[in-house]
Amino acid sequence: MSTVVLDNVSKVYPGGYLAVDRLSLKAGEGELLVLLGPSGCGKSTLLRMIAGLEDITSGELWLNGEYANHLAPRDRDVAMVFQNGALYPHRTVRGNISFPLEIAKADPGYVKERVVELSRALHIDEMLDRRPGTLSGGQRQRVAMGRAIVRQPSLFLMDEPLSNLDAGMRTELRMEISSLVRALGVTTVYVTHDQVEALALADRIAILNRGVLQDVGTPGQIYNDPATAFVASFLSSQQLNLLEAVVRTPQNQYILLDFGLHQIIMPWTDPRAYAVSRHVGNSIIVGIRPDGLAPLPPGVDQGPCLAGRVRTLEYHGHEWLAYLEAGLPAVPVPEPPDRRRHGDGAANGGSRAKALVRRLLSGTHEEPDPPPVNASGSHRRADLIVRLGSRPVWRAGEHARVSVDLAKMLLFTPDGARIDPPRR
Ligand code: ADP
Repeated sequence: MSTVVLDNVSKVYPGGYLAVDRLSLKAGEGELLVLLGPSGCGKSTLLRMIAGLEDITSGELWLNGEYANHLAPRDRDVAMVFQNGALYPHRTVRGNISFPLEIAKADPGYVKERVVELSRALHIDEMLDRRPGTLSGGQRQRVAMGRAIVRQPSLFLMDEPLSNLDAGMRTELRMEISSLVRALGVTTVYVTHDQVEALALADRIAILNRGVLQDVGTPGQIYNDPATAFVASFLSSQQLNLLEAVVRTPQNQYILLDFGLHQIIMPWTDPRAYAVSRHVGNSIIVGIRPDGLAPLPPGVDQGPCLAGRVRTLEYHGHEWLAYLEAGLPAVPVPEPPDRRRHGDGAANGGSRAKALVRRLLSGTHEEPDPPPVNASGSHRRADLIVRLGSRPVWRAGEHARVSVDLAKMLLFTPDGARIDPPRR
């Protein structure tokens, strides 16, 4: 078992591309830590730096308490599984799994026993004499897992190991990876861009965007209590409603979130009221997941609600979603400033990013960027997405009202940070 500590780690690729920006993170003993984020956000780069396959430009890596920046990959006791678990085509399944032990000149009796034991755990014991070319994608990934595990490394690094498999196989193998690494108790860092996979697998999730760590916590923490609008939006299985509201405090009686055509009252007793009141007179971003809205029966008039015309209904098998034209001002998901490009084509941030890369390479301190003044800048009208459950209680074209669950409402500053900081 092992621990991984990344302390203020950055990666600048040759040519000056800033792929990871001053990131600090820890994976505890036996923990399954998932690195999650959109394609190109720096997940694989981070994993490869832990493996020793990429140099660390600045910052420190500690493996099991040992300073590891300059350790050769073979001295790190890590095993990696990649997206296309490349296998030796001319070796059998048995030969592929046993290979790392043969290289280590392990006792042949032990090798035989260990291969059989592992292949049983991975449900490939009936195909030990077959070659990789005759296996399905899922079976090949199982063999790749077996080859990685066989040496009993102290750290597993997995880079999108399921992304080439079909949905059914992904779910099956996901469960098996989860139970296997937990049974072995080996610290695992697992990269994926799939939020469902991350939520299902992780002990904790670290979510990245544009090379910057956005949030880290247990799946429940970052889903229910996300640090930024980006995190909330990335983790939502259905599209998150992100709306712009002006904060008002009429006669100081309550807080009014003013969406223009609609208003929502937040009482002073709400634990977030004081933090929100600091934005009085200004715009904030209100995030509401479709399950934070519930259809209101006609005539019922209580609590915070929004209304509109049902534009369309969508059937999703286990539930219906409704799109409500409510005239609400929509905002795009605020993103951190992209400081990674530093070539001539970089808009605005070009020279700043260049300066940052120079400072990282020379190891000097860098002041954080000021947040954008107003990230929303858009007054597009949004459809409000409402989760209806298993029955379509409305028809397209009808006027409908929804109650808003204030406790599920997420409140962000214009640059996407939570107004009431998450509890970690
Ligand atoms: P992810 O795994 O999140 O998809 P990567 O870590 O692979 O992202 O890449 C992060 C960014 O760094 C991407 O924009 C990618 O194009 C860039 N990048 C990756 N490898 C190199 C490289 N060897 N040289 C230059 N840029 C690279």
